[in-house]
Amino acid sequence: MPIQVTPLGILIVLSSPSGGGKSSICKALLESDPNLEYSISVTSRPPRGDEVNGRDYEFVSVEEFHNLIAQDAFYEWAKVHGNFYGTRKSRVDEKLARGKDVVLDLDVVGGLNLKKANSHAVLIFVLPPSMDVLEKRLRGRKTDGEEQIQKRLINARNELNFASKYDYAVLNEDLQQTIAAIRRIVDAERHATGNQVIKISDENAPVAP
Ligand code: ADP
Ligand code: 5GP
Repeated sequence: MPIQVTPLGILIVLSSPSGGGKSSICKALLESDPNLEYSISVTSRPPRGDEVNGRDYEFVSVEEFHNLIAQDAFYEWAKVHGNFYGTRKSRVDEKLARGKDVVLDLDVVGGLNLKKANSHAVLIFVLPPSMDVLEKRLRGRKTDGEEQIQKRLINARNELNFASKYDYAVLNEDLQQTIAAIRRIVDAERHATGNQVIKISDENAPVAP
């Protein structure tokens, strides 16, 4: 009796305050799991540093972003730190159609809205061990000026209040242990009955007398 299990594909959402570790975790997950693909977001903010259109984000004007909202092109969108960000449905759906699971880096509002739009979204919140450690990591990264760091730390307190609304929360003390814990979550979610179709073919089943 053949038993067929078809995965439906999951959306892994990583959220945390800025400096929480999302990019580092994402990079490690993608390098080690060929079935995972990162879905870039659309944003109205200008490129920063060496960011490349189509690799880091799809950069558009505010007007283009509003047109995309009107066309219902997004699973979710939000205004974060004064700029618009959104998850294009077509970009996510194309990956799922190829049998890939999708990783997204979203703010807390975006994460919760994505879950409403797509029940296969798995929300993972990455918690810093303390505000002091978060500040040290933000400074250590050397990508933000003092004003940006202060703004991100103020936002962090509000964002942390959303952790309990997520499906999972992982304390990011040791980076390798955090990555390992998130890999286990991904593995478990792939096996969740809601995330796969189980077909039991009974073509050879004995006929009842
Ligand atoms: P995010 O993408 O959430 O803003 P990053 O992945 O850029 O965060 O991490 C911020 C900084 O903290 C980076 O310099 C990264 O190397 C460092 N970092 C992340 N996790 C840890 C950890 N567990 N221990 C020490 N440093 C970490
Ligand atoms: P940054 O401008 O620093 O790259 O990102 C700022 C914030 O926007 C981060 O918290 C990031 O998670 C969030 N973000 C990035 N893309 C999206 C998206 O498509 N939707 C939502 N809601 N937030 C996003």
